[in-house]
Amino acid sequence: MDYGTFSHHVKKIYDYFDRKHPDPEKIKLWHRRAQNIPADAIPAIQDYFFDLDSLPRNVGKTFLAGWNAWKQSNPSKVAQPVKTPCSECRGEGVLIARQYHKDMKNMYSYAFRCGKCTNWAGILGESIPMATRDQLRRFGYTT
Ligand SMILES: [Zn+2]
Repeated sequence: MDYGTFSHHVKKIYDYFDRKHPDPEKIKLWHRRAQNIPADAIPAIQDYFFDLDSLPRNVGKTFLAGWNAWKQSNPSKVAQPVKTPCSECRGEGVLIARQYHKDMKNMYSYAFRCGKCTNWAGILGESIPMATRDQLRRFGYTT
């Protein structure tokens, strides 16, 4: 669910409880955790809120709880991530690359979305950078 849709529904929940809309920065933080929730689940998640006696303090957390409840009652609608064969990431959709940091005198590992398939969908959000092994090597990573 994109930010605009999420924000719209959060505001509707606040309206229901006669509360002033939350700060957009707060909605952005909640959205980071809720971005993988499909739009299909929204009506049920809203009902989950409307069954509460008051507006919860942590709306992001309650959104996830509502989504978990929806998944439990709709197991057939929960999309299983479709994996396609991919030699770049061995079908995992994730590339782990390491880079040496001179200042820290240490190797660090980083996760990237595979740039050659979409097997990362449903596992990694779009805020995780996407790359191919060639690109990572060019930027000094060990893959
Ligand atoms: Zn891949």
